Amino acid sequence: TGLRIALVGRPNVGKSTLFNQLASAVRGRGTDGVSNPAPLVFVRSVVHALPGVTRDPREASAAISDLRFTVTDTAGLEDAVSEALERKAEPRADGEVTLVAATAMTDTPVYRNLYRKMEAGTAAEVRDADVVFFMFDAAHGLTQVDRAIALWLRKEASEKDIVVVANKCDVAGAENNAIEAYELGFGDPVVLSAEHKLGLADLYTEINRVY
Ligand code: GDP
Ligand code: MG
Repeated sequence: TGLRIALVGRPNVGKSTLFNQLASAVRGRGTDGVSNPAPLVFVRSVVHALPGVTRDPREASAAISDLRFTVTDTAGLEDAVSEALERKAEPRADGEVTLVAATAMTDTPVYRNLYRKMEAGTAAEVRDADVVFFMFDAAHGLTQVDRAIALWLRKEASEKDIVVVANKCDVAGAENNAIEAYELGFGDPVVLSAEHKLGLADLYTEINRVY
């Protein structure tokens, strides 16, 4: 299929982990759909405990069960997000910050720099995609940087199908944080653990909707 899915989110939310899980489903599956390992040439995404490892967008053939698609792993926001954190442009996520507050915040030099980086990197992958998985770290909770990226998607990718993916829901308390995602206006979040492959059936449902 020509369906393209872009993974978007701030560094360290688990984009590369999900990318590798989706891509590895194709590895070892041949044209008969069962055996005959198919060569997979595009899997080059790097997962690391530290943010900042994935340098360029990566692309791979991927699958969840019988749904085949192309997935792209975006990166390149590391420096801009570090800057936002270092300059303390990231208010505490104390439940009082909202998308409205985030809108005002994005009109600051630090966040304008983040958007410049998004235009330089992420934007091309988003424009090529049919579906965007907007990922956040539910173990940590929604941050202002997440909200800023979500605002950018609402503006720049309003015609795309956007699915919010609440990752790291294997961690205690994360599933509860996942509901914070409703404020973004992208609908029901998918509760996921990319690392433990939990929640892939719900991702399947979301992809199948547009397939
Ligand atoms: P990226 O920067 O968005 O590409 O994030 P990575 O895929 O490199 O993951 C960043 C860190 O989060 C790594 O240490 C991963 O092992 C960890 N991680 C990714 N997915 C999960 C998950 O589902 N659960 C938990 N607990 N950790 C995860
Ligand atoms: Mg990465």
